[in-house]
Amino acid sequence: MMQNSNITPEMEDQMIELAYQNLLNGYLSSNHRKKVEIIDKAFKFARDAHQGIRRRSGEPYIMHPIAVATIVSQEIGLGSTSISAALLHDVVEDTDYTVEDIEGLFGTKIARIVDGLTKISGGIFGDKASLQAENFRKLLLTMSEDVRVVLIKMADRLHNMRTLSSMPANKQYKIAGETLYIYAPLAHRLGLYAIKTELEDLSFKYNHPAEYQRIKDQIAASEESRNELFARFSAPIRERLDNMGLKYEFFTRVKSCYSIWNKMQTKHIPFEEVYDLYAARIVFECDDESAEKRICWNIYNEITEVYAKHPDRVRDWLTTPKVNKYRALHVTVMGPDGNWVEVQIRSRKMDDIAERGFAAHWKYKSGEGEEEKELDLWLSTIVDILKDPEPNAIDFLDTIKLNLFASEIVVFTPTGEAMTLPNGASVLDMAFMIHTDIGTHCIAGKVNHKLVPLSYKLSGGDQVEILTSNSNTPKADWENFLVTAKGKTRLRAALRHQRRLIIDEGEKRFKAFLEQHNVEFSNEVLSQAITRQRISNKEELFFLIGNGDIALNEDLLNKKDNGTRITWWRRGLFRGKETPKETTVDAQTAIDTKAIYRLITHDGKSNYHIADCCHPIPGDDVVGFVNASGKVVVHKMDCPTLARLKASYGSRLLQTQWEEHSDRFQATIHIEGIDQKGILQSIVNIISTNMSINMKRMNVTANQGVFNCDLDVLVTDASVVTNLCREIKKVKGVNNANRMS
Ligand code: MN
Repeated sequence: MMQNSNITPEMEDQMIELAYQNLLNGYLSSNHRKKVEIIDKAFKFARDAHQGIRRRSGEPYIMHPIAVATIVSQEIGLGSTSISAALLHDVVEDTDYTVEDIEGLFGTKIARIVDGLTKISGGIFGDKASLQAENFRKLLLTMSEDVRVVLIKMADRLHNMRTLSSMPANKQYKIAGETLYIYAPLAHRLGLYAIKTELEDLSFKYNHPAEYQRIKDQIAASEESRNELFARFSAPIRERLDNMGLKYEFFTRVKSCYSIWNKMQTKHIPFEEVYDLYAARIVFECDDESAEKRICWNIYNEITEVYAKHPDRVRDWLTTPKVNKYRALHVTVMGPDGNWVEVQIRSRKMDDIAERGFAAHWKYKSGEGEEEKELDLWLSTIVDILKDPEPNAIDFLDTIKLNLFASEIVVFTPTGEAMTLPNGASVLDMAFMIHTDIGTHCIAGKVNHKLVPLSYKLSGGDQVEILTSNSNTPKADWENFLVTAKGKTRLRAALRHQRRLIIDEGEKRFKAFLEQHNVEFSNEVLSQAITRQRISNKEELFFLIGNGDIALNEDLLNKKDNGTRITWWRRGLFRGKETPKETTVDAQTAIDTKAIYRLITHDGKSNYHIADCCHPIPGDDVVGFVNASGKVVVHKMDCPTLARLKASYGSRLLQTQWEEHSDRFQATIHIEGIDQKGILQSIVNIISTNMSINMKRMNVTANQGVFNCDLDVLVTDASVVTNLCREIKKVKGVNNANRMS
């Protein structure tokens, strides 16, 4: 882009100098040691290195590193090392200088940070890369080495977002999306609340410009009435706070455009119905840290004497601060217009920390020479937070990302090559990690020269050899012993591919069979076969034929239904080369001979139906009932419907026994509790992380602080559900968790 012709080089130099002085002044007024020389050296070096280069906006490039360093210093609160690294952050990436040059001039510490910044400048941050878990992981690993890398990256991203308008539209869209997905949540976790909000709003502005503008306009239009309302709301409280002799500010904070929009989206409501458009905040002055908490509660008492409080909306972040160090007391009360208003009560210090994160910690630091120690402490806290998979601490990470925090083990191939795997990884995980083909053909492993099954869990330092067989094919239940996302994805793809091949084979065989019998292939023939086999579609039919589960014989073409004979499931038993250990009896035989009817499920097909009234699953005490069409319907022993059936059709009851199976059954669990932050996340974590149970559906309502959740899970038997309910009951806020019929 062209330089504005009205600006002379002298004016530009002056502009650069001014921006740099502003950076220095901010630094000098902070509590940091005054290490100006190193900053000065970094500035001059970066300025000369970027000499003659311009940003897309047309301004000299050095303006960007200065702006990033200013954010690092004034908005994040870091010291000279970080400021210098921020000034130098694009030097290695964009000029001929190397990390070694930086190290020679500025020492190892700064060089390492610059190196880290250069390394992560590609990946999710670059032009080509997409959002890959792998790259996110790289970012977090770099972070645990020196979190300053990520903090500076955050400042870099914030400045790029602030100046995003000079980018072409397609890049704006991508950068904004990435910011919302990665940086804003990360900023939140780091306690950089103001930066998080700004990143969200800027992302929103570029992703949905029209909505952004509309909400901005609506906020402006409603300002007057809001102010009026607040004046009425606050007057009686002010009177009481004045009587307490407090020095305080009482004001309102409108939600950010992004969070208003978010609320409108998730609750499906128009702007006018976002009742908690703003929160009221009381910030009081208090020099005595030991009195802070008490004053908060005193204010709370005064407020709740004026207005009725919402019974479930008191948030005490004083006793237990949030992981990102947020402290405050929140109470929601009924305002004079009949709407709920949230009031946040904070001391000045709490407010500063909430808004500015680390920068505020510096401000309140007492004593000299402690900063390195305190910084280290803070950094290690962040690293701990990120390593600790405690549910509330990482609410923004989905299961894949959760993987990233799991600790890792290093194992070795027979040739001594090291491989990093997540803790809990199996032989099969490693096989899939090496190659899809090795995974799909894996039959076992040799760990430290001992033969182990493919489900064997590896430990750090193991030497692992993968044994494969070309005739081996992947199995669906392998997923149970895969912990890596990569392994799971590759297995699923292999299974889909395999199924497709079998379906094609089955179709070929079916058509050849018809030809042999001089029957023309038609939809009628097809749907007849499908109906006779009691399956849902032709893919299924071809699959079962291809698999050998359905034999190609006259039966398939016979037009007459053979009534109550239950034969289709038995074929499942004789599939492939496997032969059943013992023969089973069919329903009628079982009734006639009073034999036990075995409840068998295989490949998703069962020789019984689950009763709709009581939904038993394997492990429950059940009784079979042979219905009018000869199907065995399984009821729970204590099912009221069964009691009725017993009375009228006693002779059709069957004694049953669950057989071992690998299939999963659906059970519904109802959870009740008091809504609180993180409750859902804790529950989900128990289900999918701790117990590795598949969740099919989740329906959550939170009304007036009461949390209700209906959950459909897929489990192997009833004991799993019992355990799950017991674990869920341990979650803070949960009153009850029970299996539903
Ligand atoms: Mn940059």
